[in-house]
Amino acid sequence: MKAITVYPSRREVKLVELDEPAITTPTQVRMRTLQVGVCGTDKEICAFDYGTPPDGSDGLVIGHESLMEIVEIGSGVTGFKPGDLIVPMVRRPCPHDWCDPCRVGRQDFCVSGDFTERGIKQANGYMAEYVVEDQQYLNLVPPALREVAVLVEPLTIAQKALRQVHEIQQRLPWQVRHGEGETRHRAVVLGGGPVGLLGAMSLVAEGFDTCVYSRAADGDSRVALAESIGIKFVHAEATSVEQLAAGIGNIDLVYEAVGASSLAFEVMQVLGTNGIFVFTGVPGRRGPIQVDTDRLMRSLVLKNQVVLGTVNAGRDAFEAAIASLGIFMEKWPVAVRGLITGRYAIEDFADPLSGKAPGIKNVIDFGV
Ligand code: BGC
Repeated sequence: MKAITVYPSRREVKLVELDEPAITTPTQVRMRTLQVGVCGTDKEICAFDYGTPPDGSDGLVIGHESLMEIVEIGSGVTGFKPGDLIVPMVRRPCPHDWCDPCRVGRQDFCVSGDFTERGIKQANGYMAEYVVEDQQYLNLVPPALREVAVLVEPLTIAQKALRQVHEIQQRLPWQVRHGEGETRHRAVVLGGGPVGLLGAMSLVAEGFDTCVYSRAADGDSRVALAESIGIKFVHAEATSVEQLAAGIGNIDLVYEAVGASSLAFEVMQVLGTNGIFVFTGVPGRRGPIQVDTDRLMRSLVLKNQVVLGTVNAGRDAFEAAIASLGIFMEKWPVAVRGLITGRYAIEDFADPLSGKAPGIKNVIDFGV
């Protein structure tokens, strides 16, 4: 079968021919790959800045945002059948007895760091024609979502974040009014990429008054897409962070989805009272920057603020993402479809994986 493999030691990314995987335990299923999304992490792996092949191998099959279809099930599989659509999870638990999160299936909070991630860290990913996986890591997707279900994994980032926000904000009565007739919380999303836009959709769906702060130009399709669902698009080139804050009032939540620390810490300075700042981006290592730490610390203490980092996702976030995507498709089908801007055959992997291909979310489409 065909697979896209990265060889970090040789600095090569190639389409290779591999043996098709077979079921080896009763609880495994064999799936054929329908689509795999390309994200910033994949581009970093293809630039040899991130990613680790499985132990004993020099190549890593990449891809972790996938949609699959079951073609065969093991004798002990329950709840899945051939033809079912599946989005598998990304992270697998570490082996240590003392890692409490991994022992209860919450490897997204692994303590040891010895977890593996399919397509990223020491486990082959999904940019291959066939994949075998144990049933415990699978999520069933309704057939109605087939066209867009490749967006489930990037949506899990926002869904995990929002679940935590709701838990944390139980520390206070959170239905605060900020002005005459105003009952909605105000959220700022940093970044108009797929993680940002899916985060913004999640916030709008939960009733937040939401704006996206991004460098996208006026004619960019992302602006119209965001505005079509009631998200205000604020252009970072034309509006300073102070102006952004002045136009919003108390900022209750910032959802960071660009991985640029200088912008993030600038915006953190205008976070509102009782506000929560969520980091989802992983910045490159660009070296130290100047930040007014006294201002930040004063504000964190005197305004009861929270800073939260979040990575990966557990089953609850995958289930929430599948349910939310269904709701988004009912409310905003054109906008959701509009997030997928490019579909590439596996042979044409080079442009999307190098970041040369334009658009919002590009996917490798296996043509089945
Ligand atoms: C993936 C996560 C993963 C993270 C760090 C992200 O792109 O969506 O599942 O944990 O990269 O490797």
